[in-house]
Amino acid sequence: MLNLVLFGPPGAGKGTQSAKLIEKYQLVHISTGDLFRMHIKEETALGKQVKQILADGLLVPDQVTIDMLEEEVQKNPQAKGFIFDGFPRTVAQAQALDDFLAGKGESINLVIKLDVTEDEIKERIAERQKISGRVDDEAEKLLKRIDEYFTKTIHVLPYYEGQGKVSVVNGIGNIEAIFQNLCQEIDAVIAS
Ligand code: ADP
Repeated sequence: MLNLVLFGPPGAGKGTQSAKLIEKYQLVHISTGDLFRMHIKEETALGKQVKQILADGLLVPDQVTIDMLEEEVQKNPQAKGFIFDGFPRTVAQAQALDDFLAGKGESINLVIKLDVTEDEIKERIAERQKISGRVDDEAEKLLKRIDEYFTKTIHVLPYYEGQGKVSVVNGIGNIEAIFQNLCQEIDAVIAS
């Protein structure tokens, strides 16, 4: 299996690049943000539980997120591999993912950090808000999400660096050029 984590701040382009990567490498894309939004839209019990948390730009509690993620992986027993997008967002989630994959004789092969400056993500999300209408893209909520990223999520990186699994790719510039750089990193891992 090929299991990738796409890592980066809100607005780094994880969703855009994931869509291109799953097509090329035939992987299953799991975006915890998309899953939560789907639960909210469908008004499931989980959706009701997390609606306000997402609207506030805060992180959903680890166990809730981990349970949902594991369920989603189990739904895809035939997968050649996964792209985890927006997960793990805390060290506890990263540890849970490692344990879960180890139980299947699998592991994370590569963590790619999409490197984007804080100014760039603020600009991008301001643009996105005009079309997405996502309540958590509003300026104040966005600051909360960026704050969550720099206080909690950023610690996931040294966790995976300790395992020698992190590659950094510049996330600013042409979407296709960024994609090619991501592919280079992935192909190097496949070849190794
Ligand atoms: P973005 O990357 O643009 O911030 P996402 O779609 O990945 O947006 O996530 C939207 C929201 O969903 C987050 O702000 C958070 O409330 C919730 N969320 C998504 N993934 C996680 C996670 N792994 N742990 C906790 N909360 C999460």
